[in-house]
Amino acid sequence: MKQKVFVDRGKIKIYPPILEVVEPLMRQLGQKIHIESIRHPSFFVPLFQKARKLFVGVKIDEAKKMTLDQLWQVHDSKSFRDYGISLLDLKIEICKRLYDNCELCGHLCKVNRYQGKGKCGLGTESFYEYWGELVGEEAVINPAAGLALWGCNINCCSCHASMYLSVENGNKEGKILGPDLWKEIDYRNCQTIEFNAAGDPTPHLLSILNVLNQAPGSMNHPIVWSGNSYETKDVWKLSDGITDVYLIDLKFGNDDCAEKLAGCKNHNSVAEQALDSLSRISGKKIIRWLLLPGHVYCCGQEIVKMLSHHDFYVSLLDDFQDDHKMVFKRKNTEDEISRAKDLIKRYGLKDINLPENARCFWIK
Ligand code: SF4
Ligand SMILES: [Zn+2]
Repeated sequence: MKQKVFVDRGKIKIYPPILEVVEPLMRQLGQKIHIESIRHPSFFVPLFQKARKLFVGVKIDEAKKMTLDQLWQVHDSKSFRDYGISLLDLKIEICKRLYDNCELCGHLCKVNRYQGKGKCGLGTESFYEYWGELVGEEAVINPAAGLALWGCNINCCSCHASMYLSVENGNKEGKILGPDLWKEIDYRNCQTIEFNAAGDPTPHLLSILNVLNQAPGSMNHPIVWSGNSYETKDVWKLSDGITDVYLIDLKFGNDDCAEKLAGCKNHNSVAEQALDSLSRISGKKIIRWLLLPGHVYCCGQEIVKMLSHHDFYVSLLDDFQDDHKMVFKRKNTEDEISRAKDLIKRYGLKDINLPENARCFWIK
C-alpha cells in the first residue's frame, strides 16, 4: 500500500486513512482514536443481493441472441418473473455489449475494449489493491473497506491517488478483481464496501458487476459507488439497483476549468446529466464538493447552483493537498473555506457532516 503523510496547519493527515496505519501512529503520539460511524440498520439487505433474486423471465441462451436494444427493453421494463436470469445477470450481459463500443464516460471513446483501449487505458480486466479499513470517510459510510482499482477515466491535477493511474502498474502489482476478492479482503469490521476508493469505478463496471455476482449470499454490507460525475447515462442505469450509496465527486463548475485541470471536455453538460440521472435512480446520494484553491467563484458558485436543483446530501472536502501535478502550489485559505460553507448554507443544501442530517441518512 502506498501512503502519504502531510502536515497541514498543525494537523497530521494520512492518505489513505487506514486504521492499521492511523492507530499505531496515534498510539505513539499518546492519542486515542475515535472513529465516527453512523451505522445502517442490522436488517439491511444491499440492493445487489436483491438484484440477484429478481428474475427477468429471459433464459441465458435467449439473452445472448437478443440485440442490445432488446436487452435494454427487458431491463427498463422492470417486470419480474419467477424464471430466467437475474436482474444482475442481465446488467452484466448489457455491460458486456457496451464494452464493444465504449461510451461509458464523457470521453465517448467508442473503442472496442475486447481489442483495444480508450482514454482510461483499460480493457476488460481490472486489478485492485485492498487498502483496508478506511476511517476518514463520512460517518454514514465509515469505516469503509477501501478497494483501490488501477486506472481512471480522468487525470485530475489534484489527484491524491495518482499512483493508481497506471493500468500497467496494476497488471504487475495488483490482484485481478474476480471471485477471490471475497476471500482476500477482510470487510467484517467495516460498515460498507467502497468501489473505487482511488479513482472512478466507471471504466471497471463489468468487473464490478461480475464480482458482486460472485459475492457470498450472506454479504450484507452496503455498496458505495465512489465516482467522479463524468459517467454517462448507461452507467447510471446499470448501477441503479446494485449501489446503495453514491459518493460522487464534483470539483469543477465550468468547462474551461475542467478541461484545463483534468482534461475533461463538456464537463458541465455531462455533470448536469449525471445529477439528473442520479435523481431518478435508487440509492442514497452524497455529493462531495472538492474545493480547489482559487475556484470558489468560477466553479463553486455553479456547483452549488447545480446541486440546489436536487435533493442530495453534500459533503465539503476543503483540505486540498496539491501533491500530483503541483499546479496550485497552495492550499485553500480560511476565507475560501468559509465562503464555500456560506454558499452551502445560502443554497439550502443538506450537509451530511452535520449530525442532524447524518442521523437521518439510513432511516429516511
Ligand atoms: S470508460 Fe471512458 S475513457 Fe474508458 S474507454 Fe470507455 S469512454 Fe473511453
Ligand atoms: Zn474554476
